[in-house]
Amino acid sequence: MADLTADTVSVNQTIKKLQGKVVVVTGGASGIGEVTARKFVLHGARAVVIADIQDELGQTVVASLGPGRSTYIHCDVTDEDQVRSLIESTVKIYGHLDVMFSNAGIGCASQQTVLELDLSNYDKVMAVNARGMAACVKHAAKAMVEGGVRGSIVCMASAAAGQGGPMFTDYTMSKDAVMGLMRSASLQLGANGIRVNCVSPGPVVTPLFCWQFQVEAEDAENLYEAQLGLKAGKRMSAENVADAVVFLASDDSEFVTGHNLVVDDTIKEFGRSSF
Ligand code: NAD
Repeated sequence: MADLTADTVSVNQTIKKLQGKVVVVTGGASGIGEVTARKFVLHGARAVVIADIQDELGQTVVASLGPGRSTYIHCDVTDEDQVRSLIESTVKIYGHLDVMFSNAGIGCASQQTVLELDLSNYDKVMAVNARGMAACVKHAAKAMVEGGVRGSIVCMASAAAGQGGPMFTDYTMSKDAVMGLMRSASLQLGANGIRVNCVSPGPVVTPLFCWQFQVEAEDAENLYEAQLGLKAGKRMSAENVADAVVFLASDDSEFVTGHNLVVDDTIKEFGRSSF
């Protein structure tokens, strides 16, 4: 698995794309969310609020980001009251909200086809990935509208969305729901100057990836070859996804909304995502 410590995450320090911005990252205690939170800080964000259910990990990330740059708030995105409180607290502490990276997500441990679909697992996946996403977009957008902020909302989808897949049926469905939410919200919020986009990564080795494929991080490279049929070699990392999120969050993408930005190194080998 990619080393996700502070030392491995870098940006060109002369180009600070999020100078002064107030940002919330859900699922920021681990994986892609953690790496993106680090990028946000390096890009000059005034405040990065990390929201997660893994409190100890989240506090550790905040401590490593340096005093005053980031805050941890416990938030289970399946609970709308907790999401409302997360956004209200952010606005109370920092004055407003500029960027919402709605990233929290879970997967299924078994590679379910529709024939094997476990509907109780489906409910869990949809509760976080679809319903939780809706709560986050709703309350972030409300805060931006009420504060008169021309903000950016970035929703975490997946390269699995929009194309179906050989496995992970409920996960794929949940990410298609994210895409529908993003498209609707971008149309509805455009007049307020609020942009809503998705980022859709292909496979990246993170705790979620290891859980879904039931592998240890050190065996992930073999899995790429054995199970996904990919050639050995350099694979994309969480940092590549974080760079795409920074683009969508920043004024560099001032006129980009309703867009799904796919970041997937498996497409070049298959002509489609292998996720
Ligand atoms: P991860 O497990 O490292 O991170 C997910 C984070 O979400 C964790 O910190 C977890 O505690 C948090 N979380 C889970 N349920 C939550 C809840 N109810 N409320 C708040 N936080 C919650 O995995 P990751 O791979 O970094 O996943 C981040 C996002 O990226 C997910 O939405 C995932 O679906 C998406 N994604 C990942 C990949 C990949 O290959 N890793 C590919 C495409 C999309």
